Amino acid sequence: MRRPSNINVEPQSPDNNRDMKNLKTLWWNFRKKLGSPKLLCDSCEYDYPSACHNSKRPNVTVCQDYKKR
Ligand code: SF4
Repeated sequence: MRRPSNINVEPQSPDNNRDMKNLKTLWWNFRKKLGSPKLLCDSCEYDYPSACHNSKRPNVTVCQDYKKR
């Protein structure tokens, strides 16, 4: 299917990705300063839908199945 020529789709700039990473890092540092428990899923080997069926993913702070990436 052809895309209509009047739609201007620009590729996502690498700056957008960098900004999101910086925002995420700020959020992590803020949580850490508040003393919030560490969210495990972001560093877990099983953090994808077909491997982990835990309904609380990705905001789990205690998990018996956790395996570091
Ligand atoms: S196994 Fe536990 S820590 Fe790992 S992704 Fe699933 S819920 Fe998160």
